[in-house]
Amino acid sequence: MLLAAVVETSRRVSETSKRLEKVGLLARLLLELRPEEIEIVVRFLAGSIRQGRIGIGYATLRDTQGSAAETPSLEIAEVDRTFQSIVETSGSGSQRQRSQLLHQMLSRATQAEQQFLVRLLMGELRQGALEAVMVEALAKASGANVERVRRAVMLAGDIAPVARALLEQGEAALAQYDVQLFRPVQPMLAGTADDVIEALAELGLGEAALEFKLDGARVQVHRSGDDVVVYSRSLNDVSAAVPEVVEAVRALPVKDLILDGEVLSLQPDGRPQPFQVTMRRFGRKLDVHRMRTELPMTPFWFDLLYLNGGNLLDEPQSRRFATLSEIAGASLIPHTTTSDAERAGEFLEQSLNRGHEGIMAKAIDARYAAGARGQSWLKVKRARTLDLIILAAEWGHGRRHGKLSNLHLGAPDTQKGGFAMLGKTFKGLTDEMLAWQTQELLKIEISRDSYTVYVEPKLVVEIAFNEIQVSPRYPSGLALRFARVKRYRTDKSAAQADTFQTVQKLAGA
Ligand code: AMP
Repeated sequence: MLLAAVVETSRRVSETSKRLEKVGLLARLLLELRPEEIEIVVRFLAGSIRQGRIGIGYATLRDTQGSAAETPSLEIAEVDRTFQSIVETSGSGSQRQRSQLLHQMLSRATQAEQQFLVRLLMGELRQGALEAVMVEALAKASGANVERVRRAVMLAGDIAPVARALLEQGEAALAQYDVQLFRPVQPMLAGTADDVIEALAELGLGEAALEFKLDGARVQVHRSGDDVVVYSRSLNDVSAAVPEVVEAVRALPVKDLILDGEVLSLQPDGRPQPFQVTMRRFGRKLDVHRMRTELPMTPFWFDLLYLNGGNLLDEPQSRRFATLSEIAGASLIPHTTTSDAERAGEFLEQSLNRGHEGIMAKAIDARYAAGARGQSWLKVKRARTLDLIILAAEWGHGRRHGKLSNLHLGAPDTQKGGFAMLGKTFKGLTDEMLAWQTQELLKIEISRDSYTVYVEPKLVVEIAFNEIQVSPRYPSGLALRFARVKRYRTDKSAAQADTFQTVQKLAGA
């Protein structure tokens, strides 16, 4: 198929606001693809490419558009092959070779195709919201049940291979994406609520499950008989770093299971060690046995995804938690269930008094939505924080001379596209953080002027603040007051940052 057909569909999908029309357009395109084109096109339409990044800087891309072809001739497979050749080019002079390959391809593209390709490579077409529409289009094109498709995509953690399997082999191909032991699933994520009243209201005013929110490391543990593997939040096997967790799970009275929880190191009085201290256990080249006595880890389980051969993902939270309670013993997360805001407030105080971050409020009827930041889990903390994206940074003065310091903070605007600027801060940055951010930001530089370096919007940072103010200073109309950096969230991608819509909600706008 010609790239032009994809570009045209992409344009028409973005021009209509009618969901069913979007689904129809995508389904029609999907049905015309050859098998080897499916994964490529599904990625293009979501604004990404198989190669991830092709190592051509933002500035080069911006300046590459030369003369355009009159008629479309580029094939999809060719475009993918060119991207592949570009990533595979290395060694001296590779930068020039890469640009040449890109130029050659762009010179054969029409103007519309050029714009599409450049925006694709700059990450400007990336659209999380389109995935849900694509899931429906896949169901429509293949005749498969839409819920099954959604679940397979969730468990595969990637829509492209599911699309290919489905369109090539039909609905039966989805069986391979069922939950399986030792194939970790993306962890379910939480949204943010301002306070307990809002959390209860968001969850539907009935009873909600409340749990302490512990600040440690998220883990997912799979067990079959004596085999136990601990996976990190990014789904790496970290069993060797935490043998006591492996042993604790092995001691549970079950044959096989998948647990979801948080592990952290507690002080002798039961209060948590600071997050950074807990995380030392996951550092490289450590003497695990020594660390184990110095900094023992305690697991707290809050969910159960699989038990003795049966998958529990579609069971309501209340049932999963009830089953978990029967087996987890003292490792069950401290919890309560209530519909009363006052009791919820007391529970939050209890958690904060014991040194924890806050509480998690969960919908008792919600299934486990792997990989999704939904509204079924809401975190409530005292200090308000947002995960924002660094858009630019200013060179520091005095002691910070030569270091990128004042950060420009933005949140993705899911309605208008682009980013809403919410303020700047250099507070909370240690020397170590300054050095790190200078190095990392320069790697993703797009352009600069005399005192600011503009970067690709991808680095996520957790910002604490006191208030959201209405401010005429930024086009977004909002600004954070007393913003300070808590930590970098390198475990999060830009797509997982808090959106401007969340900020507006917090601001009551
Ligand atoms: P955040 O990373 O700020 O979006 O908050 C979600 C994280 O809180 C999860 O990924 C867990 O690592 C952690 N967490 C701590 N306690 C809980 C809990 N009771 N339920 C779910 N997640 C929890």
